[in-house]
Amino acid sequence: MHILVIGGAGYIGSHVVKALLKNGMDVTVFDNLSSGDRINYFQGAEYIEDDILNIPALEKALSNNIDAVIHLAAKKAVGESMEKPELYAVNNICGAINILNAMSKFGVKNLIFSSSAAVYGIPEYVPMDENHPINPISFYGFTKSDMEKYFEWYDALKGIKFVSLRYFNAVGYDEDGDVKGLDKNPQNLLPIVMETAKGIRSQMSIFGNDYDTPDGTCIRDYIHVTDLADAHVRAVKYLSDGGKSQKINLGTEKGVSVLEMVTRAEKLIGKKINFSFAPRRAGDPPILLSSAHKAKEVLGWSAGNSSDIDNIILSTWKVYNL
Ligand code: UDP
Repeated sequence: MHILVIGGAGYIGSHVVKALLKNGMDVTVFDNLSSGDRINYFQGAEYIEDDILNIPALEKALSNNIDAVIHLAAKKAVGESMEKPELYAVNNICGAINILNAMSKFGVKNLIFSSSAAVYGIPEYVPMDENHPINPISFYGFTKSDMEKYFEWYDALKGIKFVSLRYFNAVGYDEDGDVKGLDKNPQNLLPIVMETAKGIRSQMSIFGNDYDTPDGTCIRDYIHVTDLADAHVRAVKYLSDGGKSQKINLGTEKGVSVLEMVTRAEKLIGKKINFSFAPRRAGDPPILLSSAHKAKEVLGWSAGNSSDIDNIILSTWKVYNL
């Protein structure tokens, strides 16, 4: 099977590429290297360095006997999306439409998409299953839910089948050390914790300690990227076996608070992490917790030992110390 991984040089994408190659698939990566990195390139994969807004380049990539597309090329910072929605509208929404049109033109029928728990907004109940109302409270989350609607229409009108994987919080690094690219300007919690522990930044903020949670800080469901990557391989196989379109949560059903993450990292790494409490960040729900039933039922997938929080912290710390 020949898979086009759009955004395959990025953090999640490079873990996905490794998993596809390990499963004997042919891989072409299409990435503009805006956040991806050549350091993440794998021998055995082909690389095209270009942008999803460049339609001729995208069409050329899609014309090369592609069996399925995995689309991970998107802007991903909740806070930034509230300040610069225009970046998110163009890259995420226009980019996805370009991909759908190019897939239609060249008869590529299977699409795996990196969606997000951010589509749900403030939980009405936890753990959240896929039937939870969709009410994003960040522009980032809106772009993901909007793209899912385009996919539904292109399924109905063009027969493109999709699996939209709604990631909860993707964290951790390949345990063999094969993915080394660090986030260049991190906005997510764990890379910021790492940079603070390393002394790259002198201190970090915990956004909000007045939420209605046991310690007042936000609770998230952290899932290791190696586990996420495995779900993508399963989704490719599911669609190639004739599976119908699906939206599927990928999480652990376990919550960790921001404060717990920081203090656990301090303990495991053995360094003081200088933090202070700051106001809430716009667009942050107090708690995100995934139900893992559907992933198990449809893909036979559940989070493995990699997603243990200690392993998440230590596998990340290892890469920050290469
Ligand atoms: N967070 C924080 N300080 C930071 C970065 C993130 O307190 O410097 C918090 C953020 O407010 C959220 C949690 O950590 O409650 C996870 O944020 P992240 O950006 O990693 O992922 P998100 O949940 O937005 O997808």
